[in-house]
Amino acid sequence: MSRTVYVNGSYVPEEDAKVSVFDRGFLFADGVYEVTSVLDGRLLDFAGHATRLQRSLDELEMKSPVTMDDLLDIHRELVRLNDLTEGMIYLQVTRGAADRDFAYPKDVQPTLVLFTQSKTLIDSPMVKTGMKVISIEDQRWGRRDIKTVQLLYPSMGKMMAKAAGADDAWMVEDGLVTEGTSNNAYIVTKSGKIITRHLGNEILHGITRTAVLRFAREAQMEVEERAFTMDEAKDAAEAFITSASTFVMPVVSIDGVAVGEGKPGPVALRLREIYLDESRKSAI
Ligand code: PMP
Repeated sequence: MSRTVYVNGSYVPEEDAKVSVFDRGFLFADGVYEVTSVLDGRLLDFAGHATRLQRSLDELEMKSPVTMDDLLDIHRELVRLNDLTEGMIYLQVTRGAADRDFAYPKDVQPTLVLFTQSKTLIDSPMVKTGMKVISIEDQRWGRRDIKTVQLLYPSMGKMMAKAAGADDAWMVEDGLVTEGTSNNAYIVTKSGKIITRHLGNEILHGITRTAVLRFAREAQMEVEERAFTMDEAKDAAEAFITSASTFVMPVVSIDGVAVGEGKPGPVALRLREIYLDESRKSAI
């Protein structure tokens, strides 16, 4: 069945959803994006995603094609038109279409595209088995805090993981873990402390990360935001990832070494439960 997609002010069948070959998203990866989860037909943490989108746009001196209020209306209308109960909404803004030139064009109209993806998020089989990750060098550009559509290296990383019989890759720079290919990375020490890399240009400031760390602190769990090594991770009691579409997902093996007991750990599973409870309550 054909989805209804939003393109520059119109809701159209996906077959008719088109952008220009001169679009700078296509030519230069000159675009930013957000992925917002939908549960029970409602949006999780929309405000967080809208705020980060505005920051990504500002960092690239890109105009927002619509107001953030309009953006909420568009998200809701797409949920309605596609009868989406569980899944994601993908949003992309590019600088727009202009004759090819490295310099940012003046007076160009930004491109705005949104589409829905229906997906089982809550009852993902991976919650029971846990994920296997491998380590790879982080070879991405230096502004990972901007959520751009330059996702080729993360795609390569997922393929390397697949080839190694794993589910994802954690990236390492100067001997320290930055993040997963499309998620933030965490370990839990044997004394129960949750460790995840501090914010900076080296990682994406995950919306789920912010929420999960807040819930962890509210639940009196100890949290430390600092970089950690792969050796530390392999020796940890637990490991997990967070992202808008996986929420909190346990990691049970790193480079073939079992983490802790080699099965989803209690801290990760508890955080997943709290995150889902709390974000469903505040979904809009
Ligand atoms: N890091 C990277 C590199 C990502 O691509 C993502 C997901 N887009 C995240 C972290 C997690 O961010 P969020 O919780 O906002 O989905």
